Amino acid sequence: MKIAAQLQSLKEELPAHVTLVAVSKTKPLEDLEAAYAAGQRVFGENKVQELVGKWEALPKDIAWHMIGHLQRNKVKYIAPFVALIHGVDSLRLLQEINKQGEKNQRQIPCLLQMHIAEESSKFGLSTEELEDIIALQQTAPLPFVDIKGLMGMATFTQDQSQIQREFRQLKAAFDHTQKQLPEMTVLSMGMSGDYPLAIEEGSTMIRVGSKIFGERNR
Ligand SMILES: *Cc1c(COP(=O)(O)O)cnc(C)c1O
Repeated sequence: MKIAAQLQSLKEELPAHVTLVAVSKTKPLEDLEAAYAAGQRVFGENKVQELVGKWEALPKDIAWHMIGHLQRNKVKYIAPFVALIHGVDSLRLLQEINKQGEKNQRQIPCLLQMHIAEESSKFGLSTEELEDIIALQQTAPLPFVDIKGLMGMATFTQDQSQIQREFRQLKAAFDHTQKQLPEMTVLSMGMSGDYPLAIEEGSTMIRVGSKIFGERNR
């Protein structure tokens, strides 16, 4: 199916409170332009260089989300324009984002990434690390970051009950931290393979790539 048609049918499925991030990593500019022409304005990329190149090439009313693992030495390249950084998985990274926010005189919106998957390969904070960051934000908040919520990735498995368990764990962490930081409103969970379940379990933002743009080659 064509990109515009895929987007259309996906949007018809989504409840109004769920934001769709179109994950365009590895895809050529013309695919993003097709999605843009169909009205999509929120795109997600997972590599800094690719994100910067696409931001330069495409219309400036696009909200660019950095969804991948972010190295501290690369924050400076995206700090001037990034609309949301999903994968904040350490205090040191958050501090670097704060520093670059100050340089650019803007508050950079961030999500704290929690480790919920069984695989050790997936990045993310433990519950204790999350608690520490929240405690810090309550006592001595970093002025140039805006913590909007949490993000997580479930284990890559066919086992729906396991994915559900992991999503519930993330939702519980979200509800808990929201009591401490009520301005947190975003729960980023769900991808092409598991977004219906993620929405049932309380997601407010889904990151969907292959279902819109087709399979990736790399
Ligand atoms: C690639 C990617 C997605 C989208 O994956 P699809 O299965 O193609 O929908 C979502 N989130 C993150 C963090 C990704 O890296």
